[in-house]
Amino acid sequence: MRISAPIERLVAALRRLPGIGEKTAQRLAFHLLSSPESLSTELAEAIQRMKREIVLCSECFDLTERSPCPLCSDPSRVASLICVVEEPADLASVERTGRFRGRYHVLGGALSPIDGMGPGELRIAELEARIAKGGIDEVILATNPTAEGDATAHFVADRLRRHGVRLTRIACGMPLGGDLEYADHVTVGRSLENRREI
Ligand SMILES: [Zn+2]
Repeated sequence: MRISAPIERLVAALRRLPGIGEKTAQRLAFHLLSSPESLSTELAEAIQRMKREIVLCSECFDLTERSPCPLCSDPSRVASLICVVEEPADLASVERTGRFRGRYHVLGGALSPIDGMGPGELRIAELEARIAKGGIDEVILATNPTAEGDATAHFVADRLRRHGVRLTRIACGMPLGGDLEYADHVTVGRSLENRREI
């Protein structure tokens, strides 16, 4: 089937999104074409607005509408305790447990040489700078319990060791190879409580 240029253009753009192949991209494009114009307008505006209004917190690198984010500027949060996670979704997962009252640091991924993710691609230097400023007692490494997450936790721990802070890793209560983002809040809460020195 020959597809006209404007449709082809949208299909090509959609295909650049994760998990969207040619067939899904075409289905979405044709769906938008046959739907009322309001859907396309709403979608386009929502995407542009999100890009415009969401920034990275200058402290923890979570996604936020204002920097520093509400978590970093909340005086009731324990500033001497930092929980290190891979992605904003993992932060949300730890936050859902309601058992963590410290602050966070979002690395922006995990070490994965195959995917070109080296230490320079993660916000490790930024974390070290936060620790170097002082006032931090403990850093909890809550990267995912995967090979990449474990390697990242050990790498970060080795980098931070000279700062003399307590370094802990969330416990194995988490299913091996699992993702913090998809684990239930009881499991995540337990793995936080049973954390051990790394
Ligand atoms: Zn923040």
